[in-house]
Amino acid sequence: MARGFNAFENAQAQFDHAADILSLDRSARELLRYPLREYSFAVPVRMDDGSMQVFRGFRVQHNDARGPCKGGVRFHPQETLDSIRALAMWMTWKCAVVDIPLGGGKGGVICDPHHLSNREQEQVCRGWVRQIARNIGPDADVPAPDVMTSAQHMLWMLDEYEQIVGGRHPGMITGKPVGMGGSLGRTEATGYGVVYTLREALRELGCAPRETRASVQGFGNVAQYAIELYQELGGTVVCVSAWDQADQTSYAFRRAGGVDLAELRGLADRFGGVDKGKARARGYEVLEGGAWLAQDVDILIPAALENQITPDNVGAISERVKVIAEGANGPTTFDAGRALDERGVRVIPDFVANAGGVTCSYFEQVQSNMNYYWPKDEVLAKLDRAMTAAYAGVASVAKKHELHLRDAAYVVAIDRVARACRDRGWL
Ligand code: NAD
Repeated sequence: MARGFNAFENAQAQFDHAADILSLDRSARELLRYPLREYSFAVPVRMDDGSMQVFRGFRVQHNDARGPCKGGVRFHPQETLDSIRALAMWMTWKCAVVDIPLGGGKGGVICDPHHLSNREQEQVCRGWVRQIARNIGPDADVPAPDVMTSAQHMLWMLDEYEQIVGGRHPGMITGKPVGMGGSLGRTEATGYGVVYTLREALRELGCAPRETRASVQGFGNVAQYAIELYQELGGTVVCVSAWDQADQTSYAFRRAGGVDLAELRGLADRFGGVDKGKARARGYEVLEGGAWLAQDVDILIPAALENQITPDNVGAISERVKVIAEGANGPTTFDAGRALDERGVRVIPDFVANAGGVTCSYFEQVQSNMNYYWPKDEVLAKLDRAMTAAYAGVASVAKKHELHLRDAAYVVAIDRVARACRDRGWL
């Protein structure tokens, strides 16, 4: 497999590059290049037709030197242990770069919720928790929603955990429904966080959001709220790409004057899929899925999946693109990232741009542990402050050491994690 196309190899290549910049010693590299712990297990589920189906579940704890592991649980038919390893590692850097006292973890189940009833999805959630309950918890490892998992899935997981250990432990999981231990603002947090960092990058470039146009990959949680806030700041989104469930492929939906967010939301299914027939009927130009990348825009927001910007398609990105705000985790392969750096495109790396989700999850944990909940404007104001400070910290290291943003972010994050490991006597 070519370097950069395996998410874990990609994460390690990025780490190695930053470790060289930091002149990190051999033992620190050995410790941080791999997860501390990983669990791979079976999740047997009684299906609605009475048959048993065994799903594969994972939890990877990359590093917890700075605090309990934190990271989502994904439901995806193409999930692999390597992609979970990469995502767990990125969570470690993400928590460190925004300076919250948490480590990095990630989990998943190989399954397609499109083909599971609600009862079957509940059984997958409960089965996953039964296998891992001893190794997670408010002080050890705190899961959260991710691709194709929701607040309802988190509540089933919490309920199963509480049945196993007894008592009420809302701080065991985040992304819970509001009113059941969830935080106001969590739904918006990742997408808004992407735009808080984008706003700061545009400020650095002396560019007003209202003078810019953007193209977005994905129309799920992250993409929709990124579009919402970017449009509130005056920006124009001309193209959105999403998965079409009926055709089992993605399409890009373009409208030169700007997409109508409310209208597109009305066309989307609950997984962020958009039906091409309905979009065409509303006057959207329907292009092949990859076309989102080749638009004549100032900003690209990849907010769907990993490994979307590769050496094969990086050349299709318009000369006009100034900023890429990585909403998704790992959307740019290592080599494509280098090519963008050489072209002078400002890439706000995933673990900075999309850190709003985990930052708000941390706020949720704090509120759940206190059993006292803040109003939404307070949550979002705290989030904006944390994201703005994280971007400023990374941008200042980039400037001081003449680094690209991804390298600077790695330097900030790895330095903090390695220091915590050293202080604990692990190195
Ligand atoms: P989601 O499941 O809500 O949405 C995913 C979107 O991607 C959907 O609109 C789907 O139609 C689209 N999609 C899938 N395959 C596609 C393809 N080939 N081409 C174009 N679009 C495609 O997921 P989400 O929560 O929005 O997460 C998106 C990304 O952001 C993931 O990489 C996730 O790990 C990352 N992320 C999410 C959060 C969060 O809080 N939700 C936090 C940090 C990072």
